[in-house]
Amino acid sequence: MAKILCVLYPDPESGFPKTYARDNVPTITRYENGQTAPNPKAIDFIPGHLVGSVTGELGLRKFLESAGHRFVVTSDKDGEESVFDRELPDADVVISQPFWPAYLTAARLAKAKKLRLALTAGIGSDHIDLEAAIKHGVTVAEVTGSNSISVAEHAVMMILSLVRNYLPSHERAKSGGWNIADCVSRSYDLEGMHVGTVAAGRIGLAVMRRLKPFDVRLHYFQRHRLPKAVEDELGLSFHYEVEHMVKVCDIVTINAPLHPGTINMFDEKLLSSMKRGSYIVDTARAQICGRDAIVRALEDGRLAGYAGDVWYPQPAPKDHPWRKMPYNGMTPHMSGTSLSAQARYAAGTREILECWLEGRPMREEYVIVDGSKLAGTGAMAYTI
Ligand code: NAD
Repeated sequence: MAKILCVLYPDPESGFPKTYARDNVPTITRYENGQTAPNPKAIDFIPGHLVGSVTGELGLRKFLESAGHRFVVTSDKDGEESVFDRELPDADVVISQPFWPAYLTAARLAKAKKLRLALTAGIGSDHIDLEAAIKHGVTVAEVTGSNSISVAEHAVMMILSLVRNYLPSHERAKSGGWNIADCVSRSYDLEGMHVGTVAAGRIGLAVMRRLKPFDVRLHYFQRHRLPKAVEDELGLSFHYEVEHMVKVCDIVTINAPLHPGTINMFDEKLLSSMKRGSYIVDTARAQICGRDAIVRALEDGRLAGYAGDVWYPQPAPKDHPWRKMPYNGMTPHMSGTSLSAQARYAAGTREILECWLEGRPMREEYVIVDGSKLAGTGAMAYTI
């Protein structure tokens, strides 16, 4: 029998929902790259209901307990006195989400003597020290593809919202104001602008596809060049170096995993090489951008706006400078955990657990670390 330790974000402050704004969510069976959506033997939740917070338990309790496993769910994840730290030493499996990450540091992994599987209910496993996971023989898996479009939609929304000055204008309307000149003195059209993505994997490419109809010029920088047919279809210009791409872009969207090759990529130097008045939208990971360098670039006008939903650490402290810096459109880390996305990553988490508990191999695309090395998607996307 296994012990499964699951860390999820807290329930809504207003209490766990009794009703929902909509009665259902569309069923997505296949993703844009042809990959099929998660397909567990069964699910014990209603798609479109909140399963990502502690009471929702990813819909896993009945499945795990009826098979005799121990299932511990908590949102208390930080510090040595946390429930997570106390429950970790004899856990066989840890489930965590990037939105509310249980940081599996080298020190914590050293204490987790029984741990065999670290499962990310979502995408992005940088909250796990992958080198230490390799050292301790822990398999790392994530539900690849489950929320890629959710994030791509959020990034497109943020790009439009920054360029058109939506949020400050909405605030003005809400507070009873009507000064149109104030609203428009920072408002532009996206049409004709140059937009570049750092990485054109599942999310980056989906952002490009969604922006194409806005009649923008599209650019990308990433480790592996895309097939010519894809470049031609979207009119994508490939750049061998990020420095080269950001010089010609008005907007940069960041869609790369966090690893030693991307950490602090947008430092003072790179930010200073961008066109004056550029916008950055980062829905990938906060540490790809220098925290204070971003604040300075907004304050002195090198950047016209910054938005994203990723912070470090998470939850962000109340005094995190990105909460109040000028021209920001930040949200808490929510893009990949819409109710629509939750239905897919909860089903994917169950699919991975079914495989692991029955000793069957999980899908190659879900694997980040296995057999003491980067493997599957992990070998394509990460370095250590
Ligand atoms: P993916 O594996 O499909 O694509 C990642 C791409 O990044 C790959 O094509 C790889 O070649 C490229 N890449 C890696 N290192 C690079 C480097 N140094 N320079 C340029 N390109 C590089 O992953 P994805 O599904 O598109 O997700 C990307 C990231 O987005 C995740 O790792 C995660 O951090 C983040 N994410 C955020 C949310 C959210 O809720 N905000 C949700 C899902 C994923």
